[in-house]
Amino acid sequence: FFVIGLGYGGSVVKLQDFAAQLTVLSYGAQLINELKDAGELPEAGHDAELRDASVEFSDVTFSYDGADRDALTGVTFHAAPSTVTALVGPSGAGKSTVARLICRFFDAREGAVLVGGTDVKEIPFSQLMRHVSFVFQETFLFDDTVEANLRLAKPDATDADLEAACRAARAHEFVTALPDGYQSRIGQHGNRLSGGELQRLAIARALLKGTDIVVLDEATAFVDPENEVALQAAIDTLVTDRTVIIIAHRLSTITGADQILVVDDGRITECGRHEDLISADCLYADMWRAFQSTERIALGEAVHKADP
Ligand code: ATP
Repeated sequence: FFVIGLGYGGSVVKLQDFAAQLTVLSYGAQLINELKDAGELPEAGHDAELRDASVEFSDVTFSYDGADRDALTGVTFHAAPSTVTALVGPSGAGKSTVARLICRFFDAREGAVLVGGTDVKEIPFSQLMRHVSFVFQETFLFDDTVEANLRLAKPDATDADLEAACRAARAHEFVTALPDGYQSRIGQHGNRLSGGELQRLAIARALLKGTDIVVLDEATAFVDPENEVALQAAIDTLVTDRTVIIIAHRLSTITGADQILVVDDGRITECGRHEDLISADCLYADMWRAFQSTERIALGEAVHKADP
């Protein structure tokens, strides 16, 4: 089969994200078998006992092969079921690495990552994939129709299921505006979608999959104001009644998060709700002030443009 990466700005496909999408979409049987043969995955068929939909890091330290420094050092947090945990911090701080460890693109060198109270290394990969959905920035969509891409998440979905998921993800409108609607091939000339639209399709797919845990790497700067409102509405729908780990790039998204973890140089340096971290007046408060001034500039530009 052919896979096209439709990340924003034609960003280079990251192998680990590619692998995750394959597995998430049940296209990774061969890959999974190879990992099993290599003894790196527990056998399927014996599902592990998962207590609930929690996600926990217990003193996790991790470094990428060949790297001369740890990407994560002693990371500990607990994401309770049906709560939103936001990861924020400077570029290269380790936010994506946290997300990658939850879905076992890599394993912790020290400490443990637990889902439902069980070490992810003890959870058969297929079971983990049934419980966790991933919505990444470099959203992978197959060179196929919108419908086929959505159906990968739930092969027996009815047309009504597909439409309901797309409406909830604020994708139905732009999909039906494509020349062939749900039958349009994604990525073909004339059907190029913006980064925000692609992420909304990925959210529709996660909604269809219906898992109780979602790991979301929020789309960034390419989202225009109109798209941003729709994307925010889609995210709000997705996070309802689920355990969500969100890598947030626009801080306005996460002011209501149950906990915000500030990741800096591979460590969690601050943890709390928005108001707590503003009062603490450390890195998060600095980031918030910087974010607000950028928003003001953007708003000023929008007003200026609207001004005849
Ligand atoms: P950004 O906001 O820019 O996506 P991030 O906070 O998500 O950054 P990570 O991508 O988790 O940061 O990276 C943490 C550290 O690990 C960085 O120093 C990065 O250069 C390094 N790193 C990330 N991926 C790899 C990889 N595949 N191989 C080696 N080093 C990596």
